[in-house]
Amino acid sequence: MTHYQTEPADIRWTEGRPASPRFEDHYWAIGDPSEEKAFVFPGQHDLAARWQTKQHFTIVELGLGFGHNFLATAEAFLKAKPSGILHYFAVEQFPISRETLDQYWRSRGHPLYERMIETYPDLIANWFTVWFHPSIRLIYVFKDANQALPEMEAAVDAWYLDGFKPATNQAIFNPFVYQQVARLSKPGATVSSFSVAASLRQGLSASGFTVTKRAGFGNKRELLFAANSGTWKPTNCEHLEDEPLVIGSGLAGIGVSEALDRYGIRHQLIASTSHTGASCQPAYNVYPQLSLVPDTRANFSLAAHYFVRQHAANFNEQPLYWRSLDQTRHDRMNRLSELLPVSLMRVDGDAVLFPTAGTLKPQDPEITPRHVTRIIERGQGWEVLFDSGEGIEANTIILATGAATPSFLPWSMKTIRGQSMTIRCDEELPDLYSGDFGLSRLSPNEYLVGSTYALDDEGIDVRESDVQTLKQRLLSHFSTAEITPIAHHTGLRAAFPDRMPGFGESLTHQRVLQEDHRLERSLEGGLRVQSAISKGEREGTSEVRFFAAIGFGSHGGTHASLAGESVAEMIAGAPRALPRSMRDKFRPDRFDPSRG
Ligand SMILES: Cc1cc2nc3c(=O)[nH]c(=O)nc-3n(C[C@H](O)[C@H](O)[C@H](O)COP(=O)(O)OP(=O)(O)OC[C@H]3O[C@@H](n4cnc5c(N)ncnc54)[C@H](O)[C@@H]3O)c2cc1C
Repeated sequence: MTHYQTEPADIRWTEGRPASPRFEDHYWAIGDPSEEKAFVFPGQHDLAARWQTKQHFTIVELGLGFGHNFLATAEAFLKAKPSGILHYFAVEQFPISRETLDQYWRSRGHPLYERMIETYPDLIANWFTVWFHPSIRLIYVFKDANQALPEMEAAVDAWYLDGFKPATNQAIFNPFVYQQVARLSKPGATVSSFSVAASLRQGLSASGFTVTKRAGFGNKRELLFAANSGTWKPTNCEHLEDEPLVIGSGLAGIGVSEALDRYGIRHQLIASTSHTGASCQPAYNVYPQLSLVPDTRANFSLAAHYFVRQHAANFNEQPLYWRSLDQTRHDRMNRLSELLPVSLMRVDGDAVLFPTAGTLKPQDPEITPRHVTRIIERGQGWEVLFDSGEGIEANTIILATGAATPSFLPWSMKTIRGQSMTIRCDEELPDLYSGDFGLSRLSPNEYLVGSTYALDDEGIDVRESDVQTLKQRLLSHFSTAEITPIAHHTGLRAAFPDRMPGFGESLTHQRVLQEDHRLERSLEGGLRVQSAISKGEREGTSEVRFFAAIGFGSHGGTHASLAGESVAEMIAGAPRALPRSMRDKFRPDRFDPSRG
């Protein structure tokens, strides 16, 4: 077992009832599990009454198991037709395999089970977010609760503690977890569990909950119900005074815009038609970027690859063959394939196959064409000025300006020129290929071949030397291919020094602008985000917010959708679907010199 993969649940079936030898316990009591689970979990929280208003309602379940609680809750939510959004964190350290789950639910039947199977992630120790339904966001957290809960940022309304019996599962039932439950709970948040063990009752009481025993299901005498101190109030969906302004309509701007749409947040998307961004390709190869140890970057890439498959408009899933003639790269990829589930990547002949890779062919979004020359902070919001001399005001700005970002803010970024070409080739080439170069089929005999990589080069001219480089790479893999270049595409990628994207809210720009000497330097350098207010005036203007989604380097196709989701959930006031440490690592202002 590797660090990437989770240990799957070990299940023993006796008389149609599953048990876990590890936890010396059954997954449910004798009888109909759906009825028992619906009674003990969604049945205890007065959900229909609490779902009346337009709100973010957050449930955390510890112990997803077969998914009974989630399916029952989702079904009840859809039946209640509330106007808000249900965010459901399903924490599970030993997930059941997709095959077992499918077999189980196929024989039982449930109106929503197919969607669960369809969205069920590979068994990798990570967080995976999916909009299960336009009003239900499901976050699978395949992690130990002790690691997962400290990473969560959410205002939780209800908890389902469904992780076997406390005596054999102290990984869930322990004082640290109870403290985390208290930390994340809203006033009046509710908890239910099938167990009334003294340790659980005492633990929750010590964390500030009022614990009661209620009548249990069937022949079980009791169940546990607990309520946090204070009065429960709904977390209303953020009411935004004005429409957020997304600047930039490349893959990052599209990712943010699609995510804002999912939250029903009206916004404006503006972009310069005179700026050649990186998103100028007819297609983008999409597959996760991995490392030999599952670090933050690789985990983000896995989560982003999962997300883009579920949500990006015009994503076409198809197998990608990765092959390199460089022995070191070849060996590394082979080693990686041993660490990950075969459903994600596996050795296939002399290549590595990514069965769930694909291509993204985004359509041009509807934009308002505007070239932004200056962004000025005023007391009540941002004033965004255009080269036409006009301007507009906005409280919330999302900068998605790719390689143009350093002209707005003093954030260290690298510019990387790239060139690719569309070719005609009558010989059959793979539909999707990567490694020493990228290849994707655009039509029966046309392919996109990419791409060159020139650091600190800002030229966007088409270069014959790049055409020759691409030709040679292609011919070194497919020597008999006769190709005719028919179009060329150049663009400028933008990357941070650590090669990781930057997304989320920028907090340091305020500090930068507050310091007069910095402001002067900004003006001298021609930087275009400025402040026209003093520190005192800024206080009380917390509605004024500045976000960014930038630095996607060579992987915007895979990473921009989830980054957009992360930005949109912050604007919407929803719980965060990525672990806190990951979001900290990807802060867009992490290379702001003023952070020290
Ligand atoms: C040749 C090449 C091949 C590539 N192949 C792949 C691939 O196969 N798979 C993959 O995942 N990635 C690939 N990439 C990388 C991918 O293209 C980028 O990661 C992605 O496009 C970055 O998107 P972005 O939105 O951050 O930036 P950009 O696409 O650069 O968008 C920036 C936006 O900001 C706007 N803007 C800038 N300045 C202003 C201003 N002053 N006022 C208003 N608007 C402004 C621009 O008009 C543009 O809309 C490739 C890149 C290149 C160059």
